[in-house]
Amino acid sequence: MTVHPIVVYGEPVLHRKAEPVTDFDDALRTLVSDMFETLKLSNGVGLAAPQIGVGKQIFVYDADDEVAGVRRRGVFANPILVGSKVPTERPDPYDESEGCLSVPGLDFPLKRAHKVTVNGQNEFGEPVSLSVEGWFARIMQHEYDHLQGYLYVDKLDAKWTKKWKKAQRERGYTEPGKSWMPGEDEDPFGH
Ligand SMILES: [Zn+2]
Repeated sequence: MTVHPIVVYGEPVLHRKAEPVTDFDDALRTLVSDMFETLKLSNGVGLAAPQIGVGKQIFVYDADDEVAGVRRRGVFANPILVGSKVPTERPDPYDESEGCLSVPGLDFPLKRAHKVTVNGQNEFGEPVSLSVEGWFARIMQHEYDHLQGYLYVDKLDAKWTKKWKKAQRERGYTEPGKSWMPGEDEDPFGH
């Protein structure tokens, strides 16, 4: 397994819609193994292929689902996500903050759908489906958005967008070419 550097906001592959997965071959399964290993060393809960520079519609996740009381680990290729309505209230900065491995060191709150169902394929091309609530539903929405070319910071409300834009300028997350290496570079979230 190979750990891959994680590209940072500003890298074009993060900001365009990923291509559908068509070949469920050994190369894809190697990519998935690499993504799980990269996710583990980054101390994250989900990782989408564009975050390691691969513009394909595939993400992995590995985290505790506290609502269901189980650990969930899986793969979605070519996912379709259906969610409940996203509430229109202001997000709670304590309970609804989100972070992203491609936006190192920052977190901002945003509203998400409480419940989602995701349908897609696993690394063998077999159909997979997942219905989750709460924090795990947030993970699914976050990873799904990556494959559409959006990061969570692109979806913040006006107040938090202002704070993000300032932090973005300060950290230089405005142009391509930045990345960090899980397991080697200091954990940007201090985990
Ligand atoms: Zn992310």
